Amino acid sequence: MNRRKFVAATALAAAAQAADAPVRATPLKAGYWGPQFYDEKERAELLDVLDSRSPFRWYGPQPPTKVLQFEKEFAAHMASKYALGVTSGTAALQCAMAAFEIGPGDEVILPAWTWHSCFNAVVLAGALPVCAEIDETFNIDPSSVERLITPQTKLIMAVHLQGNPCHLDRILAIAKKHKLRVLEDCAQSVGASYKGRPVGSYGDIGIYSLQMNKSITAGEGGALVTNDPTLFERAARFQDLGGFRAPHAEAIGGAHLGWTFGANYRMSEFTGGVLLAQLRKLDRICQAVRHNAKQVYEGIRDLPNVKFRDLPDPVGELGSGVFLDFRTKERADKFLAAMKAENVLASKPGGSVILPTLPHIMAKKSLHPNWPSFQSARGKSIRYAPDTCPRTIDILQRYAGVLMDPKFTPTDTADIIKAIRKVHPTV
Ligand SMILES: *Cc1c(COP(=O)(O)O)cnc(C)c1O
Repeated sequence: MNRRKFVAATALAAAAQAADAPVRATPLKAGYWGPQFYDEKERAELLDVLDSRSPFRWYGPQPPTKVLQFEKEFAAHMASKYALGVTSGTAALQCAMAAFEIGPGDEVILPAWTWHSCFNAVVLAGALPVCAEIDETFNIDPSSVERLITPQTKLIMAVHLQGNPCHLDRILAIAKKHKLRVLEDCAQSVGASYKGRPVGSYGDIGIYSLQMNKSITAGEGGALVTNDPTLFERAARFQDLGGFRAPHAEAIGGAHLGWTFGANYRMSEFTGGVLLAQLRKLDRICQAVRHNAKQVYEGIRDLPNVKFRDLPDPVGELGSGVFLDFRTKERADKFLAAMKAENVLASKPGGSVILPTLPHIMAKKSLHPNWPSFQSARGKSIRYAPDTCPRTIDILQRYAGVLMDPKFTPTDTADIIKAIRKVHPTV
């Protein structure tokens, strides 16, 4: 080989290698949003509580302020009259069940694809969970809901998953027509809005999770909002052993109910303080995630045959992930593998489970063999099995996408676009 040929051959090899080189040298992966924004604000809130020696929300050597202030600002932020801080989103769901007086004999319609907490809250209340199919928003399909309504149905759980509001207008219309309550589960969409108003402000009650995987966090935490003073009083009583404290009574213009039955899901001042600092950053966090998602949407929109997850409100959704329909499970899986090779991590829809496919749910496990949920005629006859939600399973198999992070840099989003554009023609 002469010198000129050698130089040409090595240049070609280098070019080939560059084309084959992964888009990223090291893996790019979305992180936990809230904790990346921890700074002197959260630190100061925590130190306030430590120095005051008043870690309990209702009394102590100094008048506690954090949880009450968090509730006040959370209600305002979520465009609702009343907010209640509790220990988790799961606890908030149980408070909602108590507020709605859901119990044995009642049926609650929820999506087949959601988090364990939704199903468990219904069963813990002694009521029967009835699973609806999802649509291509990954959320509860309103037409599936309508088919499942019986005279025992009391509540629809409108869950807004992975930052994306469900078809709320249609759910609200169905609920109105059949005189049903609506619970919005906004655990995965804290900060999202629907038609100009925060999610959670449309239903009879909205619940939020403030656990680490959600928009803002103190590690654990949850909240509930409502405009209905009676629902608020029942929820507040349930999380405080049946009692109702003066500041909450004042907020609704005086207590209307007496002591009742309840658990203890009270939020601590440490949690309240951290969440107060985080809440004041929520808009900033959501803006950053939305901005990053928008870059990716715009950067790949022109790809042939591209079809995104349905977004009932593209402006209000959080942009937690950009998901594409690959039409088959095989192609979606091929996309995941190809993206991994580019060091840009992609994933299937996540953060939820397909309830009717879980062995313990198929077996109708609860706390006791005579648990009321499954004792009614319908409770005995209802089946939880994969063949009860074929559409849900199909949709979740053929979609895949990239999760977003508020701290992604312009280089990060450019690399995501580069990777998707590179692998898309190959899958
Ligand atoms: C996380 C989550 C919950 C429960 O919240 P926790 O704070 O973890 O108890 C409820 N519903 C949905 C949809 C969730 O994603």
